[in-house]
Amino acid sequence: MTTAYPPEIQRIIDRVAPGWPEELEVRPGWYPLLARLDERLAAIAPNYVLQQCKSKFGALSFYAEPSDEPWSYDEDFNEAIRTAEWESVETCEECGAAAARQYVFNLWVSTLCAEHAAVISPAVDESSL
Ligand SMILES: [Zn+2]
Repeated sequence: MTTAYPPEIQRIIDRVAPGWPEELEVRPGWYPLLARLDERLAAIAPNYVLQQCKSKFGALSFYAEPSDEPWSYDEDFNEAIRTAEWESVETCEECGAAAARQYVFNLWVSTLCAEHAAVISPAVDESSL
């Protein structure tokens, strides 16, 4: 399956470190959030590398390093990632709407607005994560 990503997302995928899958395991609703994060990280660390970007328990998990040098660490860099991860918890994975919540379907946690939660499952099981 080939997925065509918008340019601002392809830019993030181009940063994937060797040996890691060149894909983002997130739904399109988080793309704007990721594009903003990418801009912020690129400003702090122009050569930053991405290991993995996925949705985990309804929250963004973004694993990246400021550079490919071992032990690279940057407080602002990590802070930017943490901010985006917190933001994702309230952002609908489908449409990007704010004030989204976590829903559990088949043991998988999704962060969705009320509208998309209703589309995916009418009998939705709300969790209180
Ligand atoms: Zn939505």
